[in-house]
Amino acid sequence: MAEQARGRLAGKVAIITGAGSGIGRAMALLFAREGATVVAAGRTPASIEETVAMIRAETGGEALAVAADVAIPADVERMVRETVARFGRIDILCNNAGIGSSKDVVAVEPDEWDRVFAVNVRGVYLGCKYALPHMLAQGGGSIINTASVLALVGAPERAAYCASKGAVVALTRQIAVEYADRGIRCNCLCPTTVDTPWVDRLLADAPDPVARRRALEERQPMGRLATAEDVAAAALYLASDDAAFVTGTAMVIDGGLSAR
Ligand code: NAP
Repeated sequence: MAEQARGRLAGKVAIITGAGSGIGRAMALLFAREGATVVAAGRTPASIEETVAMIRAETGGEALAVAADVAIPADVERMVRETVARFGRIDILCNNAGIGSSKDVVAVEPDEWDRVFAVNVRGVYLGCKYALPHMLAQGGGSIINTASVLALVGAPERAAYCASKGAVVALTRQIAVEYADRGIRCNCLCPTTVDTPWVDRLLADAPDPVARRRALEERQPMGRLATAEDVAAAALYLASDDAAFVTGTAMVIDGGLSAR
């Protein structure tokens, strides 16, 4: 007889976008350890295939890589269709893929503004648009959107990024209210700076990467950056039945940054 899957997400099917690196990969690995079947979605096939290989090697669990650009409706529709065709359902959707922008409101050009919104906001909208009908038909589901603490506090040279993540928080609340009586929970994550390839890119652009890193750490009340695992742990809570009465929340994972 096949061994029963164990864990807080046993038997659940989770789609995670941006699963080829950073926070998305940490979510994919943690969810798989907790018994979920994981669909790792992202733009770069090699990265998401690597996440799937890591899941299989570590947990022996089922996982599928689906190449998809979250800003393209046909890609997101196919990501959902392939998930349902292969696994029959979608219990958890983590709209995690995102891009940054390091310009003030005067410097940022319309094309960059639109690209940030296409990935960070339209990507979340499209994921919900195509996954929700399946979740509603099966009687419920949990959506977790990766926003940022910069949705809640301002930061210099982040005009498009702050605005886009603010929109993610607002859409999260709207969806939570719309579907609360139909078994759908929708929450978002608001992390401070997370030590992922995202930060590696920030540092690579800095004139003095060591000093820049120190400055980022000193800004944090706990004296360190968040880890991808810190954020994945919050996502696991929101995805699991432990959070059965939690919807519409913007969960801050910032080591106290926004409490100052
Ligand atoms: P990351 O390592 O750069 O991961 C971002 C992922 O998103 C990559 O795997 C990337 O894949 C994918 N992606 C980007 N554009 C995409 C698109 N159009 N379609 C599909 N996938 C796309 O950075 P991370 O730190 O894990 O970021 C994950 C999320 O956390 C983002 O939404 C970000 O805004 C948010 N966040 C990050 C921080 C931080 O300091 N790191 C803080 C707060 C919030 P490709 O490389 O293949 O494009």
